[in-house]
Parts: sequence; structure tokens; C-alpha cells
Amino acid sequence: MFKKILEKIKEYDTIIIHRHMRPDGDCIGSQMGLKYLLKASFPNKNIYAVGDDIPTYLRFLGENDVISDDTYKGALVISVDTSVDNRIYDNRYNTGDYFIKIDHHDDSPEFADMEYVDEKMSACCGIITEFYLANKDELVMTKEAATALYTGILTDTGRFQFRGVDHKILRCASVLMEYDVDNEKINTILNTKDIRQLKLQAYIYNHLKCTKEGIYYMIFTKRVMKKFNVTPEEAAANVNLFSNIEGSIIWATFVEYPENIRVRLRSRYIAINEVARKYRGGGHLFASGATVYNKKEIKEVLAELDKLIVEYKAKEVK
Ligand code: AMP
Repeated sequence: MFKKILEKIKEYDTIIIHRHMRPDGDCIGSQMGLKYLLKASFPNKNIYAVGDDIPTYLRFLGENDVISDDTYKGALVISVDTSVDNRIYDNRYNTGDYFIKIDHHDDSPEFADMEYVDEKMSACCGIITEFYLANKDELVMTKEAATALYTGILTDTGRFQFRGVDHKILRCASVLMEYDVDNEKINTILNTKDIRQLKLQAYIYNHLKCTKEGIYYMIFTKRVMKKFNVTPEEAAANVNLFSNIEGSIIWATFVEYPENIRVRLRSRYIAINEVARKYRGGGHLFASGATVYNKKEIKEVLAELDKLIVEYKAKEVK
């Protein structure tokens, strides 16, 4: 499959790489990593990376290209790290000549002309690295590409802590490290927070809520975000701040955006993606996202998750 993808890439002069909305580290890493890899390998091709705003902490990996609608004529479009078509930013992705999807999500319905989905790979950046390895004789890896890919691996594996970390992803990280990746610098950038965010963290620890079954959660209202002068993206980034509370195996954040409430769900041992799917979302078994519209739906989501814990505990006792 990786050979077939490369053959398609070779056919086109213009390649436009798309990603999902509200990009995270793996999303930007796989997009920029693929862009730099292809740029170094095929200097005469036009390679673009498009998308909505890149969060400040990931801007060291690259910038968006701004391209006209005409650029899509006769172009190859590749989407990375995006399972469902309505999450791809922006809609022009299906106005090219041919469309390839590269993804690693558990719920990943087919919609592209060619698809490569490996739900066992814990970061999409790992897939791009394997694509490079499979075509090593024809592709040129650079420090810039390796840095982007390594960053995505770091963020999507929680710095190699999450379930799903295996020999494959560690091998990818190891290959990338051969290209002079500055591990300390990247970790410093990812770990550095400004004082607004740290003050918000103090607030979070003081105001965390907990359901009957031990789901810790935080609702970031517009009022709270205004008080701490943080954007919804910055508030949402705290989802794993309370991932390590004893006895808690599901945790969640709800963030008020102008148009809806973004739900971020995380868990250990219990798959939560079905609940996410029910509320207009999806994702991975243990890390999913959804969208709700009011407090009543927030309560419903929490009740469904509580139910999962009750069922899980009942099974454990047996
Ligand atoms: P997030 O909490 O936004 O980091 O999302 C966790 C995982 O679920 C990521 O892999 C997302 O790509 C995926 N995800 C988030 N929101 C949605 C959605 N509305 N539909 C499908 N997948 C989603």
C-alpha cells in the first residue's frame, strides 16, 4: 500500500495535504512531516499544507499554506489523522483529482479514492514514518520532517505513556532520532505554559467535579475562560491534567465554544468511543471527542459514562 501511495504521489505535480479541524500535535506533525518529507524528496513538486489555526504551542512545526481554489485542479489531495470526512478542514479537499486518506482512528469509515488506516498505530506520525521506511530508497528524510513526526508521536502517545505504545511506535521514534531531532527542546516547548494557563490549572484543581462513579470533569464556561483570559483551545488542552486521580478511570472536559460545547473524553480500561459517537463524535477507544449543545446533554453524557463504569465493575467482580 505504501508503494501504491508513493506511485500516486509521483503522478502529480501538486499535492495538497489536509488535516482535521482543531489540530493537535499528531495532526500537525503528520501533515508537516509529510510535507517536508515530500518537499525534500521531490523539490520540483508543489506541496501544500492547509488547515485552520495552528495552536501556538505547535507553531514551531510550520505554517499553513494559503492556496486558491484553482490550485486543486488536477491536484492530489491527502488527508492525515482524520477519520470522518466532515472533520476535514476545509471542504475543498474533495475538489482535487484524486484523494488519499491516511489515518489511525478506530472509527474510520471509507470515503477516499485510496485509504491507508492502521488503527493499531498509536500516532498517525508513525504511519508517515512507516511510509518513509517502506520507500526509503526513493524518499529523503530531513531533520525538519523528523522533528515534526517525532513531536506528533510524543503528543499522541502522552510521551510514550498511553496504552498502544508498542515496538512499532518506538521503532518509528528511534528511526526519527537518527535525524538529529532535539528531544529536550521539543519537550520543553510542549511543557512550557504561560502564567495564565498555570493560574487556570490551579482553578481547575480547586473546582473539579466528580460523578457518582468517579468521573472527574471540568466545564469550561465562557465566564471562566474570560476570567483567566484563555481561549477555548487553551482551556481544552487541560483534559489530561486530571488523568491521574486515584480511583478515576474516566475523565472529561466540556468547553463552551460560540456555537456548541466541545467534549473531550479520556479513559483507562473502558472504551468510550461509542458514547462519543452517540453525541456527534468519535475517535479512539480510550480518547474520543464529541459535541453537545447544553447542560442537559452534558449530564446525559456523564450518566452514560457512569453506566459504563458500573458495567465494567460488575464484570470485574465476576
Ligand atoms: P480530542 O479530545 O479532540 O483530542 O479528540 C480525541 C480523539 O477523538 C482524536 O483522535 C480526535 O481526532 C477524535 N475526535 C474528536 N472529536 C471528534 C468528532 N467530532 N468526530 C470524530 N472523531 C473525533
